[in-house]
Amino acid sequence: MSQPYFCLHGHFYQPPRDDPFTGKMPREAGAEPYHDFNVKITAECYRPNALLGNFGRISYNIGPTLAKWISENDPLTFETIIKSCRQHKKKYGVSNALAQPVHHTILPLARLRDKLAQVKWGVVSFEHRVGCKPHGMWLPETAVDYETLDVLAAAGIRFTILSDEQVQGDLSQGPGPYLVKLDSGRSIAIFVRDRFLSNQLSFDIGRYPNSQAWVSSALAGHTKGLKLLATDGETFGHHHRGAEHFLHDLLWRDLPKAGFEVTTLERYLDEHPPTVEVDIIEYSSWSCGHGVARWLTGCECTLGDSRWKGALRRALDIRAGEIDRVYADVARECGAEPWLLRDDYIDVKMGRLDEQAFLTAHGLEHLTSDAAQRLLLMLEAEFYRQRMFTSCAFFFEELTRFEPRYAIANAAKAIELVKNATGDDLSDGFRRDLAVVVSTRVGVTGTEIYDAIIASARTNGHVPHDDLVQEPDKSVALASVA
Ligand SMILES: [Zn+2]
Repeated sequence: MSQPYFCLHGHFYQPPRDDPFTGKMPREAGAEPYHDFNVKITAECYRPNALLGNFGRISYNIGPTLAKWISENDPLTFETIIKSCRQHKKKYGVSNALAQPVHHTILPLARLRDKLAQVKWGVVSFEHRVGCKPHGMWLPETAVDYETLDVLAAAGIRFTILSDEQVQGDLSQGPGPYLVKLDSGRSIAIFVRDRFLSNQLSFDIGRYPNSQAWVSSALAGHTKGLKLLATDGETFGHHHRGAEHFLHDLLWRDLPKAGFEVTTLERYLDEHPPTVEVDIIEYSSWSCGHGVARWLTGCECTLGDSRWKGALRRALDIRAGEIDRVYADVARECGAEPWLLRDDYIDVKMGRLDEQAFLTAHGLEHLTSDAAQRLLLMLEAEFYRQRMFTSCAFFFEELTRFEPRYAIANAAKAIELVKNATGDDLSDGFRRDLAVVVSTRVGVTGTEIYDAIIASARTNGHVPHDDLVQEPDKSVALASVA
C-alpha cells in the first residue's frame, strides 16, 4: 500500500417501466425529444461514456433489466461497453464488472428462496451478457443482511460494496477490503465506499470547473491506500450534463498526474486480500437513513404520507405466497423440485434453452402437453411475481407514479397467468388488499390502479373480457406468453 489508489464504482440502473402485458415502454413526459427516459439517458450517459472508454477504467454494474434494454435498443453501445470489459479482463486477468440481483429487489426483505432466485438469475444474466462468471455483486440500494451475504458467497461471489454507515468494527483501513465471516463457514470481502466524497461527486460535481480542481481539493494529502467512491453511473452525463468528460479527464489524465493508480475492485482485492474482520449492520442501505424502512413501511426519506408502502408490500407478499403455493403444487404434480426448477427457468428467459429443451434437461419430457403447458405458465407466473418486488416501486413518495404501478401490473400479469394455468383466481384477494393501499395526496387506491391496468390490458386484447373467460382458456394462455 505504498502508493495511492483510486477506484470509482458506477451503479448504472433505471427503474424498469415496460408494460408486462405488451412488453413495450410507454412514451414518457419529460423525456422529450426522446420517446422515453431510457433513450434519453442512453444518449446523455451510457453511449458517450462507452465511446470515451470510461467503462474500461471504472468498476461498474449495469442492472440486468437495463442491460437487456440497452443490448436490444442500442446494441453498439452495449457491445462497446462489453468490449472494454473484455479488454480489462485480458489486461489484468479479472473483470471490472459486477453482477446485480436481477430485479433490483431489496434482498433483506425477501424470503430466502427469493434471495436465491434473484442472485442466481443475476449471475446467469451476467454470464450470458458479459461472457464470464461474476466475482463481485452490487446489492440493490446496498441493502444487506447476513443471509444475503451468505447467498452471495455460496454463488461464488467474492465481494460486494457497502457504505461506511453499514459497517462496524475497526475501519482504520478505509475502504478495506474487509472480511465478513458467515455462520455457514463461508466468508465474503466487503469494500466500504467513502460516503462523503461519493456524495460530493454525485451532487456537487457542478461546483468544480474541471476534474483537476476536484482532485486538488478532494484528494489532497491522500498519499497511500485506496480511495473508493461509489455512486449512480447516471451522475456522469445525465444528472450532470457533459460530466462524462469530467470522468474521462479524471480517470485518464488528472488522477495519474496526481500519482494515483486507477484501479478496479477485483484487481485491488487480489493485490490486497482482507486481513481485518468487520461486522455489518443488518437491514441497512445506502439510500435510507432508517434502515430499509423506505421500502417496507415508509419513512421520512419521502415527503408526505407513505403508509401506502407498507400496505402495498403486504398485498404483494400475500399474493407471492399464494402464487408460490399454486406453483409448488403444479411443479410437484409434475414430479419436479419447485424451487430448483424455478431458479433454472432463467435459462428460458435468457434464450439459452427453448421450453422443450428446458423440460428435457429437467427430465420432464414425459409430461402430457396439458401438464407441460400448465407448468410453463406457472413458471412464467413465478417470473412476473419476482418482478413485483423491484425496489423502485417503494422508492418514491407517491403511489400513482409509474414505479408502484409497475409492481401492481406485474402482479396482475402473474395473476392472469395463474388463472390461465389452473383456473385459480387470485384477483379478488388482491383487489381487497389493494383497497387499503391509498394515495392520500390524490385519493386513489391500489384497487383503482389495478382495475385500470386490467381495463387497459383488455382493450389491448391481452386479458380476456369477463364473459369470455372459460376455465382455463388455453388460447388465451398461449397468447399471453407469446
Ligand atoms: Zn428512510
